Amino acid sequence: MVAYPPHLGMLGSTRELFESRGVLFKIIPFNGVYRGLRYPEAYTEAERRLLGEQVEKSPDPLARTLNRQWQEFGGESPGGALCHMGEMYAKIHCDGLVRRCCHKETETLGLITDPGLRLYDEARPCPAARCACWKAMKAGSYEAKAGELWQSPRHPRWEA
Ligand code: SF4
Repeated sequence: MVAYPPHLGMLGSTRELFESRGVLFKIIPFNGVYRGLRYPEAYTEAERRLLGEQVEKSPDPLARTLNRQWQEFGGESPGGALCHMGEMYAKIHCDGLVRRCCHKETETLGLITDPGLRLYDEARPCPAARCACWKAMKAGSYEAKAGELWQSPRHPRWEA
């Protein structure tokens, strides 16, 4: 469930509904603009507390682990660090544009219809001033949490 600000009031009941049926429930911070405010940075203290409480109420240890790290959305400077985004991951936008990750300050790889479109061969430096991605794949720190992020210790790209 995307924690879209107007939907926060139903977050608890929705989580309980899904988890009572054994469905892994992920709480994804909203990344976008609502009423002129840029989220997830614009969540109020009360909203952040609510998100945190719902994460901790989950009876599923995997859901708690996943959701805890996704709530760390303060953002930090990648400082040009090497990131596997673009090598192991890309975001395809609705107009066909393929970007290295969700962040608009990072490189585009081309259009999904380009015959020559391909991922990077290795991790590359991040050009963004700030990264608020809860799935950032920064080389050196990503590897330890890969299994939890993707629910598999092995990424399909590595398999390939
Ligand atoms: S560090 Fe963050 S902003 Fe930079 S490429 Fe990785 S995910 Fe994207």
